[in-house]
Amino acid sequence: MSNYDENEFKEIVDAPDTSDHDRTAEHTDTQNTEETKSGKHCYICGRSESVTGPLIRIPGDICICKDCMQRTFDTMNHAGFPLGDMGFGLGAAARTDQESDDKANSGMQGISMINLSDLAGMIPGMHRTKKKKPKKEKQVQPVLDIHSIPAPHKIKETLDAYVVGQEHAKKVMSVAVYNHYKRIFSDDEAAGNPDGIEIEKSNMLMVGPTGCGKTYLVKTLARLLDVPLAITDATSLTEAGYIGDDIESVVSKLLAAADDDVDRAEHGIIFIDEIDKIAKKKNAHQRDVSGESVQQGMLKLLEGAEVEVPVGASSKNAMVPMELVNTKNILFICGGAFPEMEDIIKERLNKNSSIGFQADLKDKYDNEENLLRYVTVEDVRKFGMIPEFIGRLPILFSLDALDEDMLVRILTEPRNAIIKQYQKLLSYDEVDLEFEPEALYAIAKRAKEKEVGARALRAVIEEFMLDIMYEIPKDDNIGQVIITKDYIENHGAPKIIMRSVPQLTTTQA
Ligand code: ADP
Repeated sequence: MSNYDENEFKEIVDAPDTSDHDRTAEHTDTQNTEETKSGKHCYICGRSESVTGPLIRIPGDICICKDCMQRTFDTMNHAGFPLGDMGFGLGAAARTDQESDDKANSGMQGISMINLSDLAGMIPGMHRTKKKKPKKEKQVQPVLDIHSIPAPHKIKETLDAYVVGQEHAKKVMSVAVYNHYKRIFSDDEAAGNPDGIEIEKSNMLMVGPTGCGKTYLVKTLARLLDVPLAITDATSLTEAGYIGDDIESVVSKLLAAADDDVDRAEHGIIFIDEIDKIAKKKNAHQRDVSGESVQQGMLKLLEGAEVEVPVGASSKNAMVPMELVNTKNILFICGGAFPEMEDIIKERLNKNSSIGFQADLKDKYDNEENLLRYVTVEDVRKFGMIPEFIGRLPILFSLDALDEDMLVRILTEPRNAIIKQYQKLLSYDEVDLEFEPEALYAIAKRAKEKEVGARALRAVIEEFMLDIMYEIPKDDNIGQVIITKDYIENHGAPKIIMRSVPQLTTTQA
């Protein structure tokens, strides 16, 4: 120190190191140009490296500035994350400050465990990214084209192959669907629509007792048109914010049915079953969150609105990517059994018919079987559906209750009729299965007693076929089984015909 003048020493220390400074400035300039080229920005705040200082790189090729990293740790600490256990507590954050410069480009130990996208909801300024639809490379095929839509009589023909009876319903649906898809095309060509006539949406409301084929009709229709279909139960829907599914969840189901393809979903069908369960509650003293409110909430969906729906989940939350789906071209079909609707119809009909000079007997309609056939908008309104809701389902029709004749036809006629299925199963054992016509009626009678429509048929038939399916494969000599009425009525046994013995023998299966 003796050789040193103290002032001189101070000067040396305080003097700005111009050479170094110049180097730094030079370095920053080159770095800036390099950054602009490489485009390195903080993943969270979006600032460039020149503003934030060296960025910390974590796996997944994500760069984060020191400030955001610190904020992340602070937020996690606040939220009570066991950072210590995970090996990156505040100590690690402190280390980040000290060591980040040298580690900036090599990544940091311990931090690799954070998946920053998981923190999306917690970090201010970090937004959920919308799931981008992967760009399709191949030429996108139109979902439907006007020439491929089958004419109404063709649609009905296909429905006839699967659905027994319900002639009126099939006809109405075939025409409505045909018009619906024509409307979509006229809309697509709106720019060249000189007359400006807009075709109204043909959403449908079907009224019919349980098990008469409402869902089955819609399913068959969707398969025939090759459009995605979502089936929802109105009972699970509640007004947004209450326990239950949001109304918009129906659209997210459709998107899932369309394999997350928005274009396909926008041309699909949504079937809402048990729609009568969201009727206005009578004498409701508190907020009707699962009734009238759901009807209100559905209005904009039925008419056509852009809704943001979660992809791959039924409810919205911070972690789920969202997609915008327009419901303008989605066909809504609502169905319900509307119990007690018959009383409303009967009351109206009896009232009308007992007034005036040509008055009928007051109880003329008391024994009428398919009263639902006479359903009108007025009856549906009286039942508890609000006028705005009914107005958005302009096609109202009913399905008939299934009588014994129809049940027998359901057993045997459709392409995949239950009896045909059993015959096919036994044909693998080279056994011929037959049902006596009276046996079929006996099955239909039993099924009708259960009052759940055609749904009871399988249960009844399975009860009797169990023994047959169990016993027959035991004996290779059995060539034919005939189900008799007595067997169904528990008075006798099926007829078993042996392959080698030509004459009939009756044995208990
Ligand atoms: P719902 O009217 O209660 O929606 P579904 O359509 O679900 O009744 O019918 C239940 C089952 O009964 C269907 O899967 C189908 O196999 C059978 N079914 C009902 N109605 C018919 C019908 N008219 N023709 C053929 N099968 C029918």
